[in-house]
Amino acid sequence: MGKATGQTSHSDIESAEDAVVFRHDVAERLIKYGRMVVARGYIHNSLGNIAIRVPHPAFPHGVAYAKHAGVSLEEMELEHVVITDIPTNRLLYGTVPTSVGHQLNREILRLRPDVNAVIHVHHDETIAHFAAGRLDAVRAVSLEYPYVMAKPACVVPSHLDVEADVGPIKDFIQDTNSLVMVRHGITTLGRNVSEAYHRLNTLTSEVRRIVTMELLVAVRGTDADYLTDEEVRWMYERAEGVIYPEGSAVFGQDL
Ligand SMILES: [Zn+2]
Repeated sequence: MGKATGQTSHSDIESAEDAVVFRHDVAERLIKYGRMVVARGYIHNSLGNIAIRVPHPAFPHGVAYAKHAGVSLEEMELEHVVITDIPTNRLLYGTVPTSVGHQLNREILRLRPDVNAVIHVHHDETIAHFAAGRLDAVRAVSLEYPYVMAKPACVVPSHLDVEADVGPIKDFIQDTNSLVMVRHGITTLGRNVSEAYHRLNTLTSEVRRIVTMELLVAVRGTDADYLTDEEVRWMYERAEGVIYPEGSAVFGQDL
């Protein structure tokens, strides 16, 4: 089709899409990080996913590697990795679509050109911690949390289903590297999948520390010793230099 129609732009696009080759190195990295997330006990079913952006000359936002729907990160093999467009959910490689959660990951990649990887899991302690009530933020108890996260976690209320309706994230996604979706789970952002993974582990660790501390405080009758907002702000400003001393950053290896 298209021959003798003169619609070169259409056929150009079609041939560019044909040229989306499946990179085994990226797929293997997705599988590797998927297994690491599983090993930490963050995956219980086919929900939870990782998206890795790879640049492509025909796609201004690049293309996204992800697990398709119906299998878990725990079960994922090479044949379960698909490639999607980023502004739309169109499959560029593979035939099985992604689950609804990939919409949120794509929208984050679209709105945050500095981010190249997103990890989303349904983390037990975070869901429990926020379901226990009276919380609208993740406060810091450890020194590592502000440095690794670099920006405050954004807590999204339970009535806001950001996976089904991703529109609202444009209002706050520039100001955070992690989302806490009440009753649902967490999403972390990184310049590569390693950074997103470190932030995932740091956020989940901080929530566990908070839960442990709050239990101990209740038992002992003492006061919770959180870092102050001013201290946390000061650490956010210095996060890059602390976590990535000159010459240690490895960004670009996903590209
Ligand atoms: Zn989810």
